[in-house]
Amino acid sequence: MKAIKSVKQFYTPDNQIIDFFEIFRHMVNHCIRIGLQNDAHTLKRLTILSYHELKLYDIISYYKLCAISKAAGILSNRKQSVKRGMNTKDPYLKKPILLSCYGFKIVNGIFKIPLGDRKYFDITLNAHTKQILSDNSLKINSFSLTQDSISISYSKEVVQIEFTQTVGIDRNLRNITVGNCNEVIQFDVSKAVKIVESTKSITSSSKRNDSRIVKRLYSKYGTRRKNRINQLLHQVSKIVVEQATKNRQSLVFEDIKHIRKMYQKGNWQGRRHRSKMNGWSFSEIKRQIEYKARWNGTQVIQLSKSETRGTSTLCPKCGKRLQEQRTSRDLWCDICQRWQDRDVVAVMNQSLRGLLRFSSSKGGAGEAMVQESGSKEPVILKVDASKLRPNSDIYHPKA
Ligand SMILES: [Zn+2]
Repeated sequence: MKAIKSVKQFYTPDNQIIDFFEIFRHMVNHCIRIGLQNDAHTLKRLTILSYHELKLYDIISYYKLCAISKAAGILSNRKQSVKRGMNTKDPYLKKPILLSCYGFKIVNGIFKIPLGDRKYFDITLNAHTKQILSDNSLKINSFSLTQDSISISYSKEVVQIEFTQTVGIDRNLRNITVGNCNEVIQFDVSKAVKIVESTKSITSSSKRNDSRIVKRLYSKYGTRRKNRINQLLHQVSKIVVEQATKNRQSLVFEDIKHIRKMYQKGNWQGRRHRSKMNGWSFSEIKRQIEYKARWNGTQVIQLSKSETRGTSTLCPKCGKRLQEQRTSRDLWCDICQRWQDRDVVAVMNQSLRGLLRFSSSKGGAGEAMVQESGSKEPVILKVDASKLRPNSDIYHPKA
């Protein structure tokens, strides 16, 4: 299995490379026009139609191939949107970029971008980038350049780890809960919610009569907000994947689209707003965990809609319906005569369902495992995600 990652760093462009951005952008937009005129969006067809047309651009030929490929990507995205019935304008590339999977090389810590006639634009890699790329088992695939940053994509072959346990992941507005019937870690992410609330008040307090200004304001604060939250989520996803890899666990995600919590009352003012706010961070943490897990060879299980049903309403021990409390997030089981935290219940159930899917394909052996692991109370550890620092090691309790 191939796993892909990328590393990004800043650099300072010169005039020549800025010219390259312009040529590249024009080529991409040229190909998009050709694609639209001929209703072509596959790479193969677009290459046949546009490669000759790109003769007039004075640039190394593999940049032309990359421009066609970029245009094909934009066109197929547009086709997807049209399919979903969205209103789409004719797309074009506005941002100055340059990307290629050919011709570049790294010599003595310098990333060399070919300009033609054996000339190169040099970017001195920083210590962080150099350290990452120093691993000889990595294959460097491509680079993508913007006006102030370079992103280098690399990959490796990964062998998937055979897992022995499962861990459920429950994403809530204020916490991310991860665990199974033995152990649960609850990451408090309410800081992220505060970031959203503060930027929300900034953007909504502006006058709405100029939609362009509001749009710009949204994008400015949106980017800042996104960066801050992603940073926080990166700390969480890193620990989640590291722990799972170390303990040979598979990570189990619920089917979020049908989860009741998205529409839970009392978190936000409006339902539409609530689902929007929930949507972004929930998918971001999943995205991060998925690519980090893939990199480590740790398996991720996505529960289906029917497998998700009841994960937060049924007792993980006896399987009976739990009673909700108006005032707290605790749930009561009449059979087991005990209170349980809603999110802890969810991850216990999710991990069991993940295990069940795994065991049913191996002939029912998992049933005994399920019963046994459900008979104890899990150890619950609470962590403030905003206090996590890079390379921080959380306290890991012994049951
Ligand atoms: Zn029970």
